[in-house]
Amino acid sequence: MKKQSKYQIAKFALELPVYHLFDYLIEASDEEAQAGQRYLLPFISRFKVGLLIEKNTTSKIDPEKLRFVTKKLDQQPQLSSHLQQLAAWMAEYYLQAIGEVYFQCLPRLLRKKSSKLPDNRIKIWQVKEINQPDRLKLRNKSLKQHEVLQIIEQSPTGLSQEVIRKIFPACQTQIKALEKKQLIKEIIIDRFDVTNVKPDLYQLQDEQQQVYQNISKTDGQFCVHILQGITGSGKTEVYFHLIKDQIRQNKQVIYLVPEIGLTPQLIKRTSRAFGDLALISHSGLSDIQRYKAWDQFRLGLKPVLLGTRSSVFSETKNLGLIIIDEEHDSSFRQQDGIRYHARDVAIKRAQLLKIPILLGTATPSLESLNNVNKLHYRLHHLNQRQGGGQTPIIQILDISKSYLQAGLAAELIEQIRQQLKQGNQVLIYLNRRGFAPVVHCHECGWMASCQQCDAKMTLHQSVNQLICHHCGSRSQLFARCPSCNSGDIKHYGIGTEQLELSLSELFEGVDIIRIDRDTIKNKNDFETRLQQIQSGKAAIIIGTQMIAKGHDYANITLVAVLESDQALYSGQYRASERLAQTILQVSGRAGRANKVGKAIVQTRFADHPLMLSITTQDYSDIAQQILLERKQFAFPPYSRVVIFRADATELEKAINKLDEIKKVLQQINSGDRTNGNSGKISILGPVPAIMSKRIGRYRAQLSLISNDFSALRSLLKMALPEIVKLKISKQLKWQVDVDPFDL
Ligand code: ADP
Ligand code: ZN
Ligand code: ZN
Repeated sequence: MKKQSKYQIAKFALELPVYHLFDYLIEASDEEAQAGQRYLLPFISRFKVGLLIEKNTTSKIDPEKLRFVTKKLDQQPQLSSHLQQLAAWMAEYYLQAIGEVYFQCLPRLLRKKSSKLPDNRIKIWQVKEINQPDRLKLRNKSLKQHEVLQIIEQSPTGLSQEVIRKIFPACQTQIKALEKKQLIKEIIIDRFDVTNVKPDLYQLQDEQQQVYQNISKTDGQFCVHILQGITGSGKTEVYFHLIKDQIRQNKQVIYLVPEIGLTPQLIKRTSRAFGDLALISHSGLSDIQRYKAWDQFRLGLKPVLLGTRSSVFSETKNLGLIIIDEEHDSSFRQQDGIRYHARDVAIKRAQLLKIPILLGTATPSLESLNNVNKLHYRLHHLNQRQGGGQTPIIQILDISKSYLQAGLAAELIEQIRQQLKQGNQVLIYLNRRGFAPVVHCHECGWMASCQQCDAKMTLHQSVNQLICHHCGSRSQLFARCPSCNSGDIKHYGIGTEQLELSLSELFEGVDIIRIDRDTIKNKNDFETRLQQIQSGKAAIIIGTQMIAKGHDYANITLVAVLESDQALYSGQYRASERLAQTILQVSGRAGRANKVGKAIVQTRFADHPLMLSITTQDYSDIAQQILLERKQFAFPPYSRVVIFRADATELEKAINKLDEIKKVLQQINSGDRTNGNSGKISILGPVPAIMSKRIGRYRAQLSLISNDFSALRSLLKMALPEIVKLKISKQLKWQVDVDPFDL
């Protein structure tokens, strides 16, 4: 039957965790079939949305056995050829399931089966010519229609129905009638109005102006710029000037910020500068709203898109520039589902489009600095604070012999007291929420740990429960030790909840504002607290990493960093980079505006080289020092790493799976060496992951390390098809992680 009817074979991407595309038949008469269109496809006994990737192709499967597509969902491609190319690159570079990568590039609404999509074009009513007699006739016959006509007439460019409705609520009937009389016409806007762009920006200072000019020079060509500027040095203002120029040239800008950086402050500031021209894609949007923003950007109706990680996949009409703020931030790395780094994907995108990309931060990632060292990226500096505020002094406070009260040394308490007395604000950074991180039996040493994870339970006194911060499981407090039945249960260590309580006793009557995931449940909570801080009243602000970034706190004069030692001797190779970044980011909160600031870092290891170098505050020096260490140990960026991760209900199963994968890799690797390939690839493991048990599953990993990335890639390219063929049990999952954030 099939053979007689006319068909062609086409390949489709489906949102499934597999490494191949799926073959289907489409009618030969479907001449308008184009890559990037969605089709509804029969899949096993259901239907799924598939994205057409290639048509008029061949299949390894007998066409008799292939199924016809059910129906076409789009008349136009939803994924442009540019994004198809980017997705194909991502799938290959990150070794991720191809269909999932393609679908990752689409807004959620388009991943679903329902094919009803809202029309997001902006339509405007304009008045056609009307002569005086006709006008009089209209006014005599229908006063209402005449009124609507006048409303439309008053605007030189015309008005959308939405706006007319605001002035004349029941306008729909009148509009219809006016259209019928051919007095008004509807036009579809296909671009934003550049003449309306008059953003009210500050005039740039000399240093900013220089940076701005240097970056502008590369307009229209691929170039990666790093803007290293301390907090408050006016980076955002430079971004805005660059955005303004793009808009004036009818081009678009994607502006990415970390999840935590998309604050009401930034949204307000962007809206104030660009008004209606800026689309903001935040997590509070519904699927429909998000699709609307995506669609309007794709149609080129708005020039600016401010968003987080996934906005890197936005379709554009005429992209001129990509900006990534806080490029070092870990939230640009997606850790589950498709594993990718939005910064690196954005750089690839800029390269494909031949446009510049700007990465701004006070503390560039070591990967980026290494690329600057290799002359791949251009580095620009902003060293002065706007408004003349000085950079804070950083003091390392040795607490190895101190008695701590509420986790604070006496000297620190005294300094806090002085600042409060002068009416200033103090920020205490403690990246650990809850009351106490350890609950244990004084008698036998038993510790409250999570049943699901290799982790201790944190005491949360406000809810009177023990909570695991990894899986969220909760349990009641223990009155007696489950191991020896002793009643001598104690808690150790200090979290933000306890700090708040202790400080309220130490500094009676002082406002304490705590910012962590337990006190901030939504955007409003955050805004309320930020406003409280901005009111400038003397207060103590306690916060976890939520406060470290991108917010303007003008009245803080003292910042204290508690409990940073853990990172100094952590097994994680990125720990010292992160610690240096955090301390500098947090201390950057002190002394903005016209007040001198100071940061105090409490440590038991005041002699540690990192602590010593932090007082110089020269991030570039610190970073080069850490890079040197990385070089010695051949850690990234001086080597490339790919990790196979497996998790299962038993550790043994995960390890066994990785052993099988290792065998495949070794076989190909040794075979390849005889072919003259260098084979400088170390295969380490499998070993249990650092926190092996998590949410009831055991995790293990197999690491591939090499300083020869192309050898590593060709090994994986050959091995992956074999690895995919290995039998897999239901209880087991495995993934590949290219350029993992943590080793
Ligand atoms: P960053 O992004 O580096 O933290 P911002 O761009 O937010 O710095 O600037 C810090 C503060 O200085 C902001 O309140 C901003 O409005 C102000 N500012 C920045 N550039 C200028 C300028 N050229 N003239 C006056 N004020 C400026
Ligand atoms: Zn006990
Ligand atoms: Zn847990």
